[in-house]
Amino acid sequence: MSYTDNTEVAQYIQGQRSTGTGTRTQPVYNPATGAVARQVRLGNVQDVDAAVASAKAAFPKWSDTPPIRRARVMFKFLELLNLRKDELAHMITAEHGKVFTDAQGEVARGIDIVEFSCGIPQLLKGDFTDQVSTGIDNWTLRQPLGVVAGITPFNFPVMVPMWMFPVAIAAGNTFILKPSPTDPSPSLFIADLLKQAGLPDGVFNVVQGDKEAVDALLVHPDVKAVSFVGSTPIANYIYETGAHHGKRVQALGGAKNHMVVMPDADVDQVVDALIGAGYGSAGERCMAISVAVLVGDVADKVIPKLLERTKTLKVLNGTNLAAEMGPIVTAAAHARISGYIEQGIKEGATLLADGRGFDGAKAGDGCGEGFWLGGTLFDNVTPDMKIYKEEIFGPVLGCMRVPDFGTAVQLINDHEFGNGVACFTRDGNVAREFARRIQVGMVGINVPIPVPMAWHGFGGWKKSLFGDMHAYGEEGVRFYTKQKSIMQRWPESIAKGAEFVMPTAK
Ligand code: NAD
Repeated sequence: MSYTDNTEVAQYIQGQRSTGTGTRTQPVYNPATGAVARQVRLGNVQDVDAAVASAKAAFPKWSDTPPIRRARVMFKFLELLNLRKDELAHMITAEHGKVFTDAQGEVARGIDIVEFSCGIPQLLKGDFTDQVSTGIDNWTLRQPLGVVAGITPFNFPVMVPMWMFPVAIAAGNTFILKPSPTDPSPSLFIADLLKQAGLPDGVFNVVQGDKEAVDALLVHPDVKAVSFVGSTPIANYIYETGAHHGKRVQALGGAKNHMVVMPDADVDQVVDALIGAGYGSAGERCMAISVAVLVGDVADKVIPKLLERTKTLKVLNGTNLAAEMGPIVTAAAHARISGYIEQGIKEGATLLADGRGFDGAKAGDGCGEGFWLGGTLFDNVTPDMKIYKEEIFGPVLGCMRVPDFGTAVQLINDHEFGNGVACFTRDGNVAREFARRIQVGMVGINVPIPVPMAWHGFGGWKKSLFGDMHAYGEEGVRFYTKQKSIMQRWPESIAKGAEFVMPTAK
C-alpha cells in the first residue's frame, strides 16, 4: 500500500490497521496546493479502549523480554528506518509542507533517538551497594511503567513521536501514539516498520484523533504516563488533567525564542543564523527564533542585510530542492499568522517586509491555491506588544533594540516562555555569563537552534514545559521507568529475633 495515495488514514491496533469505530473524519491537506489529499478518521473512546487493551495485554511479555532483546528490535528498526528514511521525509513534505531537505533533517534527528534507545541495557543499569549493613546488600533497579501514551504536534510528525516511543518501548513499556490529525500518515508508516523489525503486536499502537481521543487517554485508568508536545494552553490542560487522574506527565509547550546579538558579533554569520532560524520550516518550529534582540549599534548593521535576505527568500513548493521555505501548514494557521502581522502594524511596530502579499503561483506549478506567506520582518518591536508576548508560529521575525547586555538578559528572563535562546558574540566572558544567567532551558552560544542531542534530553523552562522531566536522554529513561530499591540478606544472618527499632548500619 502506498502512503501517499488518497487512502483514509486510521488506527493501528494490535499490529494491524483498523478503521476503528469513530464516525468523524477530517481532511488532510497538501499545504502547497491547498488540495485535500486524503481523510483521517478520528478515533473515539472505544478506539482508545481497544488500543489500551491491546497495549495492556502485550505489556507482561514485552516488559519481561531481556533489554538486550528489546534493543535488538530497535537495531532492526534503525536499519529499516535508514533504508526508508527518504520515503518518510517525502510524506512529511506532502502533509506538513516543509522543504524536503528540512524533512530529511527531521527524520535524521528522530533516528538519533532510536540509536540512543539501542543502548537501553546500559541505560537501565542500576546501582548496587555491597554490605550496607553486615550481611545486607542494597540495590536499585528501574522497571517500566506499563501502558504509556504520546500526544504529538503537527510540526514534527516524525521527530517528536521519536522523542518518545523508542525510549519508552526499549525501556519495556507498551505505547499508544496519538499523532496530530494535520499530518497523520507517517505514524502508520512507522507502525509498519516497527512490525517488520519484529516488535510484537500490541507494543506500539496508533489512535488518530483530536480532543475526544486525547481526553479518553487522559482519564483511562490503565494509562500510566502521558508525554505531550504542543501549544502551551493544551500542555497546561494535559498536565493538570493527567496529574488529576494519577498519571506521570511531561507536557512540552510553546515558545518565544530570542537571539541576542552583541555588538562584537560577526554580522554575516548573524544574518545567516537569523534567516535560517527565523524562516526555516516557515517558522513552525518550537525552537525557531522569533525575536532578534539587537544590542547597542548592531541593529543598524544587521537590519539592512536581514531585510535584503528576507525579501529574496526562495519560497517554493517544499518538493523543489531549491526551496528555502515552503507553505504554511493550514489555512487556519495562515489566517492566524496574517492576523498577527495586522496586529503588529496596529501596535506600532515597523513592518519592513510583509509576507502577506506572496503569490502562491510563484511557488511552482499547482501552488496557486496553497497556504502561502513570504517572510515577514518587523523592526522596533517592544515588550508590551502582543506580537512580542505571544507565540506566532510562522515566518515572522521581530527585531528589538536594547541598549546593553543586561537589558537583553532581563527582557528574556521576564518572558513567560523559556524554551530556546541564543547569544551571538565573540566575547567568551559575555557568552559564559549569558549561559549562566539566562532563565531558559536550552541555550545556544553562536548556535541559533540549540536542539540537544539524543543523549542530553530536550526541554524548556517556565511555560514551555509542565512537569519535571525533559524528553529523551537519561531524563526520558527516568520518565518511562520507576525506581525500585531492593535490600537483601540471606538466612544465615537473620536468626537474631525481631527488631523493633529503625534498622541502622551494624
Ligand atoms: P496543539 O497544541 O494544537 O496540538 C498538539 C496535540 O494536542 C495534537 O495531537 C492535537 O490533536 C492535540 N490537541 C489539540 N487541541 C486539543 C484539545 N483542546 N484537547 C486535547 N488535545 C488537543 O499544537 P500544534 O498546533 O499541533 O503544534 C504547534 C505547537 O506545538 C506550538 O505551540 C509549538 O511551540 C509547540 N511545540 C512545542 C515543542 C516543544 O518541544 N516545546 C515542540 C514542537 C512543537
